[in-house]
Amino acid sequence: MAEQKKKIMLTGDRPTGRLHIGHYVGSLRQRLELQDDPSYEKIFVMIADAQALTDNFDDPEKVRESVFQVAVDYLSVGLDPAKTYMFIQSAVPQLHELTVYYMNLVTVSRVQRNPTVKQELKLRGFEGESVPVGFFTYPISQASDITAFKATIVPVGEDQEPMLEQTREIVRSFNRTYGKEVLVEPEIYLPSNEACLRLPGTDGQAKMSKSLGNTIYLSDDEETLRKKVMSMFTDPGHLRVDDPGKVEGNTVFTYLDAFVKPDSFEKYLPEYKDLDELKAHYRRGGLGDVKVKKFLFAVLNEFLTPIREKRAYYEAHPEEVIRVLTEGTQAARETAAETLADVKEAMRIDYFKGWAEQYGEEFDI
Ligand code: ATP
Ligand code: MG
Repeated sequence: MAEQKKKIMLTGDRPTGRLHIGHYVGSLRQRLELQDDPSYEKIFVMIADAQALTDNFDDPEKVRESVFQVAVDYLSVGLDPAKTYMFIQSAVPQLHELTVYYMNLVTVSRVQRNPTVKQELKLRGFEGESVPVGFFTYPISQASDITAFKATIVPVGEDQEPMLEQTREIVRSFNRTYGKEVLVEPEIYLPSNEACLRLPGTDGQAKMSKSLGNTIYLSDDEETLRKKVMSMFTDPGHLRVDDPGKVEGNTVFTYLDAFVKPDSFEKYLPEYKDLDELKAHYRRGGLGDVKVKKFLFAVLNEFLTPIREKRAYYEAHPEEVIRVLTEGTQAARETAAETLADVKEAMRIDYFKGWAEQYGEEFDI
């Protein structure tokens, strides 16, 4: 019988700001689910500060502050340090070593063809060859992050699929080139609910993103949430209450698809049985945006209330947050060091270890 592959999860976030509800539905929710799945041997969640610096190198204070805030976000949504190692990317130097070796296996044209890279270059206004090399090569660094832990599964939003494909190519190329099955091909783990694959922004843009300023943060207080929801993009053709409205592409309904729970109607809008009934009324006409937005506010506020409470606790106990990161980073270093040793052995650059075996002597290095 074939050996059962160990199940290992890795994923992460760029500390370029606090986390938002797009992160939650796209990735955090799946992490919480896997964290409670006993068949997973190890779960790693990385704060990708080195990656954040590739396009924020001139704003180190923002990255530094966000590292802490993202860690607080993790703990506030329920990532549990007893089950999940949370760590800081730049504090695991083995990841950067791996990147250097993987760079030999990837061509410039292959990175240029990566659709996520293309999109992100455009978003950041990097034109032609003026892109910083560090930013350009971040898909390779992302492959290091994933393979260093021999991750079998990576819960991320849909925008990350090209990164996973690039990683699998690097794995195959490495194992083929060096003749050993050292690295493991990862699978993406997408949300099953279509609305969550790429949650749109409050302004109706295709993706909620820190860089676009169209976010609802997990840390938003009640008033901020109310203001953001009440000014959200809906159907621009739905001018009067009586007009028939569109549900597709209407961000308020997309958020409802992502967040409504079985008891939400009973609690906050009992005149409707479920979301299908609400949508049907909106399509027919006679249902105003304000009513739907108030309902969405209630649903999101219920979701965010316990997260805000936990956040207040961790902000008052920063040493607990730091301890979690210390322990997580230590564990991440140990695992990454094991993979790096395997990589070096396969690449025949494990000189001292090899010489020690050859000459039967310990070399102190
Ligand atoms: P930045 O603008 O700095 O790139 P971001 O908001 O895109 O930030 P990332 O840190 O790049 O966030 O993404 C972290 C994870 O969250 C990734 O797995 C990504 O796919 C997921 N994610 C981010 N935004 C969304 C979204 N709007 N819908 C679903 N998943 C998302
Ligand atoms: Mg991003």
